[in-house]
Amino acid sequence: MNRHVTPQNIGAAIAALEARFPSSVSTGKSARRLHAGDESHHEPSEPDIVVHPKSTAEVVDVVKIAARNRVPVTPFGAGSGLEGGAIPHRGGISLDTSELSEIFEIRPDDMIARVGAGVRRLDLNQALRDTGLFFPVDPGANASIGGMVSTGASGTNAVRFGVMRENVLGLTVVTAEGKVVKTGSLARKSSSGYDLTRLFVGSEGTLGVVTEVTLRLHPIPDAVSAHAGFETLAGAVNAVTDIKRAGLQIGRVELLDAPLVDVINRRGDMRLEHLPTLFFEFHGAPAEIASLSGTIADIVSENGGRSLEWPANAEESRVLWETRRDCLAWAKAEREGAHSWPTDVCVPISRLAEVVLETREDVARSGIPAYIVGHVGDGNFHCVFMLRPEEEAEVARLSDRIVERALAAGGTASGEHGVGLGKRKFQQQEHGAEAIALMRSLKAALDPHGILNPGKVLPDT
Ligand SMILES: Cc1cc2nc3c(=O)[nH]c(=O)nc-3n(C[C@H](O)[C@H](O)[C@H](O)COP(=O)(O)OP(=O)(O)OC[C@H]3O[C@@H](n4cnc5c(N)ncnc54)[C@H](O)[C@@H]3O)c2cc1C
Repeated sequence: MNRHVTPQNIGAAIAALEARFPSSVSTGKSARRLHAGDESHHEPSEPDIVVHPKSTAEVVDVVKIAARNRVPVTPFGAGSGLEGGAIPHRGGISLDTSELSEIFEIRPDDMIARVGAGVRRLDLNQALRDTGLFFPVDPGANASIGGMVSTGASGTNAVRFGVMRENVLGLTVVTAEGKVVKTGSLARKSSSGYDLTRLFVGSEGTLGVVTEVTLRLHPIPDAVSAHAGFETLAGAVNAVTDIKRAGLQIGRVELLDAPLVDVINRRGDMRLEHLPTLFFEFHGAPAEIASLSGTIADIVSENGGRSLEWPANAEESRVLWETRRDCLAWAKAEREGAHSWPTDVCVPISRLAEVVLETREDVARSGIPAYIVGHVGDGNFHCVFMLRPEEEAEVARLSDRIVERALAAGGTASGEHGVGLGKRKFQQQEHGAEAIALMRSLKAALDPHGILNPGKVLPDT
């Protein structure tokens, strides 16, 4: 562990926080343990104190106390991150955003919502249920909107509705000096000024603390689901490219490899052929999709696919997407003593089949159980290892090779989970020395004392 806080500094910060927030701070063991880790494989590290501010003004006070005492502040959303971003790796303050939970305004006519950073995505969609609108970005976990902004999250719907970057219109951010900056506007597009909104999206709490978010909403689409098994993984991936080229509106398309299909057959309610499989959702009026189903079936068949299976009703569609959501947890449960280690690369779609196949072969040689799922329409896939502690070193090597392969193909070390602790070592290779130097200048300008989530995103100097 790499703690940089002196006992004097942290003692003064704790005293000031306890005086300012008598009922919203905790130095107790259980609160500190709860904020020591996220859902990643990275080693937990406890903060010295946990604070639950209730407003932007309270966040300002927390950050000012941290700045005065040169103590790190690590924002904590729902703690569902998969790269260790919310781990207070250098101690200090864990700033829990869960009480920034107000939905300030829903403007159905503008298709916009303005929410506190601590609002959970499922709660927002519940609040939207009578408007015919929804917020589409859907990481598998019930993440906070502030956390999703900060990791640049996406999920199964991204191929149709875009990722957080496309769906955030504006932010309220508290800077490292405790200033309140508002970015963006209520307009759906803008070419006015530097794009500060997108500077903060994906910055993982290293440039500012997000307290409010203005989001773009979308009409809930008419959707029809389907699935098909394929003789080869490459065929499954190529079918997606061909369907996109044919101009069909794919709402979601998810790849599951054959070992994961086996898990589903053992644990779930669906019965699938032992083949790499695609789960689809098409958007459009049912008549439109029905008239195109022949084209879709032809494309699937030309790529070595079996006949498309269309769920008979809404309940079967629900089961299909719940299966996608739950199958990795089932896979983990099948190996006693195992924990998961997800990887998250994204490559140009034309290179996806080759990168997935090489990964599959490399991983198979190790004998460690691993499953491939992918948001294939975007070129993003996860190889998720279910490993036992003694296999960590080997999985670290395999995971590094997946990133190297993706970078060699012109891709990125992280499609959606962020850099956190795990992908820092690839930043220079991915972005180049000049881009990293520019990122360091931005960090130094916005956070001169390095108090905001130190030790994340940027590689060590
Ligand atoms: C089962 C499962 C499935 C998942 N599937 C996906 C997926 O499909 N796509 C995907 O993108 N992710 C996925 N994730 C990862 C995770 O849900 C996302 O990264 C999510 O965006 C994290 O949100 P959070 O609120 O949990 O943030 P946290 O984990 O609490 O924090 C994440 C990062 O954001 C920072 N942060 C949090 N709140 C703020 C704030 N208000 N201001 C500034 N910085 C802040 C933290 O410091 C940290 O660096 C999955 C996770 C799980 C457990």
